Amino acid sequence: MSRLSKRCMPPRRQKHDPFIDLVPAEGLRLTPRHYAYLKISEGCNNRCTFCIIPQLRGDLKSRPSNHVMTEAERLVKAGVKELLVISQDTSAYGLDLKYAESQWKGQPLPARFLPLCEALGELGAWVRLHYVYPYPHVDTVIPLMAEGKLLPYLDIPFQHASPAVLKAMRRPGNQEKTLERIRRWRDVCPDLAIRSTFIVGFPGETDEDFELLLDWMREAELARVGCFRYEPVDGAPANDLEGAVPQEVKDERWHRFMETAKEVSEKRLAKIVGREIDVIVDEVDDEGALARSKWDAPEIDGSVFLNGVTDVKPGEIVSVRVTQADDYDLWAERV
Ligand code: SF4
Repeated sequence: MSRLSKRCMPPRRQKHDPFIDLVPAEGLRLTPRHYAYLKISEGCNNRCTFCIIPQLRGDLKSRPSNHVMTEAERLVKAGVKELLVISQDTSAYGLDLKYAESQWKGQPLPARFLPLCEALGELGAWVRLHYVYPYPHVDTVIPLMAEGKLLPYLDIPFQHASPAVLKAMRRPGNQEKTLERIRRWRDVCPDLAIRSTFIVGFPGETDEDFELLLDWMREAELARVGCFRYEPVDGAPANDLEGAVPQEVKDERWHRFMETAKEVSEKRLAKIVGREIDVIVDEVDDEGALARSKWDAPEIDGSVFLNGVTDVKPGEIVSVRVTQADDYDLWAERV
């Protein structure tokens, strides 16, 4: 489920006239100038039992590929350095359009996940994928990450790891053998960061299901995770499920989950100390700059602190050497 509320305006159809148009040519954005959310579809064909988004927004409606590309190119020309691709179900892109082609730069471009990612990867901006369900064809974009065309980052809302809980949640995507797939992805792209969200205390979740979730998270080395205690949502089918988990058990599981997440993140970040990496600058003041690595999405992941670095501008991408790490953040110096 999409947790980001920020989104971009659709591409403007008419030529921009700076004298009469209040809205800039690149559309309205509620984000700093150097990154922007790019919405590729609305709605969802899945029916997860805890979610009412399909009731509110309807089934998947993808934007034609050339509309998406027109907006993306306009954003990049307007100074955006990082595109955050969002939707409710990013890897299902184009299914409703039967993957119809539209013309982009004189060539047919299908409304399909991989060709769209390839085209976005040509724009020269960082491209970050959010809300990707692990359908089999997700494997095909991992080489683009290894080649540097897309950021080595996948936001996959797994929600749980126990087959029984996933079944009760009616989650999309083939959840079996996910660990094996994550290992294969990392063979192709060792730097891949996976962000995810989970729900603890879903109706019927047993102690065994919960322990399985913690073990799974350690093995998958998911360093960037969020966790929610299950709460019923008006109109969601999960409200009729038996086996409600008492609040104190939910709380205890949430704390244990967050503790485990912290350990996993700390271990993974410690391995980065000493490495030279590229970061994008978000803010600068007279004490230094706040930046993000390729493994950090704005607002939800960690930061890279560049103490004493003041000769940079927001949106600038600079090379740094990582000198220190804690649970979720890094410190680095210019190289
Ligand atoms: S995939 Fe599931 S959780 Fe996400 S929007 Fe669709 S129904 Fe909701």
